[in-house]
Amino acid sequence: MQRLIVANWKMHGTQAEGAALAARVATNLRPAPPGVDVVLCPPFTALDRVASALAASGLRLGAQDVFWEDRGAFTGEVAPPMLTALGCTHVIVGHSERRAHLGETDAGVARKLDACWRHGLTPILCVGETAAERAAGQTEARLHAQVAAALEGRKCPKPLAVAYEPVWAIGGGRAAAPADCAAGLAVIRGVLAEMWAECADDVACLYGGSVNAENCRAFWEEGAADGSLVGGASLDPAAFVSICRQASLEGRAWSR
Ligand code: PEP
Repeated sequence: MQRLIVANWKMHGTQAEGAALAARVATNLRPAPPGVDVVLCPPFTALDRVASALAASGLRLGAQDVFWEDRGAFTGEVAPPMLTALGCTHVIVGHSERRAHLGETDAGVARKLDACWRHGLTPILCVGETAAERAAGQTEARLHAQVAAALEGRKCPKPLAVAYEPVWAIGGGRAAAPADCAAGLAVIRGVLAEMWAECADDVACLYGGSVNAENCRAFWEEGAADGSLVGGASLDPAAFVSICRQASLEGRAWSR
């Protein structure tokens, strides 16, 4: 399987700053490293300029969210055809920050996946337990419930990546242990095998949560992740380029 490295810039950067960051990443990843798909997900406002900066780079463009309808009276929302028109191929769906601060529900996440699939976009479904759920021994149940709710009634094959993002590991510099990553991904792969038996192996299963250039390898090698969803470190072009290079065929010493 091709590795997948996704940059989530969150709510950082103007159009000009985004274009400059994308240009630095693209310049330093030219030619595009083999064996790895790299996706940059800037804020909506920077998508157009980042698309131009990525032209002919082989790097891909993604959005951080999408609405489930194609058009209509949905003030403030962004529809899938608007993203495909900008050249997006991927969309982050169900990020824990949206679940926590913006009322994102499992039902809404499922509708957003459908919207992505209607328009040929690859959703990157984010799931993960909170610190309280982890302390209560509910990690497995939470992951199972989130993945199952997203896929219920949906038949594969459909393009999909799932990112295991323990909420307690995001943004604070306290990454999960690779063993925690492996355990979480095993649960996710188990649900995929139950619900999408014929194509479970085609779903890239990522880890996200304080990934950086120093710890990324451990999540792929000991943590069994097919790639990374990178937040803070993706705003540092040198760190992000290093992660992508390490994930490429030239930089890695493992296979799955
Ligand atoms: C994220 O935003 O998905 C993320 C994993 O952030 P960070 O790498 O900063 O923890």
